[in-house]
Amino acid sequence: MADTPNTTETTEADWPVSEAESVTAHQASAKLGKEEDDKGEFLLNLLSSYSRHRLLPLTELPREDLIHAFLGGGIHEPRVMTFYLSEEQVSRLTSLMTVPISKNYESVTLDNLNEVTSNPPHMLLVHMENSGGDEAEKVVGKLMEVPTMGFSSVVALVKDESSHYLQAGPSWAQTVLPLSLMDQAFRRHLKNLLDLAHARMDLETIYLAHRVSREQLHAVQYTDPLTGLLNRRGFEDSGARELSRTARTGQTMGFVILDIDKFKNINDTYGHPAGDDVLRELAQILREETRTLDHVFRFGGEEFGIVLPHTPSGEMTHVCERIRTKVEETHFTSMPKAGAVTISMGALSVGSEKRPTLENVYPVADELLYRAKQEGRNRVISDAFK
Ligand code: GH3
Ligand code: MG
Ligand code: MG
Repeated sequence: MADTPNTTETTEADWPVSEAESVTAHQASAKLGKEEDDKGEFLLNLLSSYSRHRLLPLTELPREDLIHAFLGGGIHEPRVMTFYLSEEQVSRLTSLMTVPISKNYESVTLDNLNEVTSNPPHMLLVHMENSGGDEAEKVVGKLMEVPTMGFSSVVALVKDESSHYLQAGPSWAQTVLPLSLMDQAFRRHLKNLLDLAHARMDLETIYLAHRVSREQLHAVQYTDPLTGLLNRRGFEDSGARELSRTARTGQTMGFVILDIDKFKNINDTYGHPAGDDVLRELAQILREETRTLDHVFRFGGEEFGIVLPHTPSGEMTHVCERIRTKVEETHFTSMPKAGAVTISMGALSVGSEKRPTLENVYPVADELLYRAKQEGRNRVISDAFK
């Protein structure tokens, strides 16, 4: 977008998309329609095409930040913030602009830095000369470390056209504007920048809304509400993915099915809500006793599954034994004593020799579980998938 500003007329039509940018936007738009997933990327590319500087890949933001940015941002007016502007300059700017200008920070301390970054501006105006340059560099540098600031247009204001910043403006500024041009030209530049801030803001909102709703939908479809574990659908999705990865890479993985022993008795003796407590607490044990790259599922009822990527068979059996012992030793809150809950496990070590799929692996693991029940319960039966 804006290079060093000139004072010649710039029409609305040719602003702000330069040739290079329109190519990027075109390439981005060519991607649209490929797949639902590409939509987010398209918008991100489009946003990036408007920004000469870093635009954070939103996919890397934690979900809380996304929701915060989506719900917390003012969506009617872009927020504009000023640094190192005198009160007089701020009121002059306010009269030139149609949008409210936020607080005028004289200096950034840790306190007001938090205030700024919790409500990141869409546009940031920094007066270079009032801060002696260095100070402004430091302030903006610090602000730019905050992920959500990636959306801000940063404009460096200088005193007049003789300012050396006008030629070699600071690297973080998309635009350098001389304050002395407090006239039509200045107003037009600001308007263009604000239009851009609006556009970015709209795209940001669309993108975030799209992403958040997708994430929520995904969570509902793939999560078991009682335990928070992945449900059968989640199992079909990630289980199949891990199996095909194993087939592709030749890495051994563990495929485990487990079932609570005599769970019907637990329900009959202590009541269904007590049974639910057991299911939740068992889920917690499974989460705690597995690695973050493992997948833990509740298929339904009192049947669970664990997929252990990159795990040799000895390690798989070791993990299963550890879980089985842990369950046996745990005093579940709704049970009278430890040992009231035990589980049986069928543990199948899957390599790439025979092309493994959910359809051919699941029944074999289920058979091992059945054997564990037959042979007296509270045990792990393991085998290799052949
Ligand atoms: P086994 O050792 O052979 O597995 O015996 P079991 O009693 O655990 O097996 P069975 O499959 O006969 O019983 C499972 C019971 O799980 C029956 C059902 O009432 C109960 N159940 C299924 N879903 C839920 C649930 O969401 N909450 C509770 N509390 N109980 C459930
Ligand atoms: Mg059972
Ligand atoms: Mg069962």
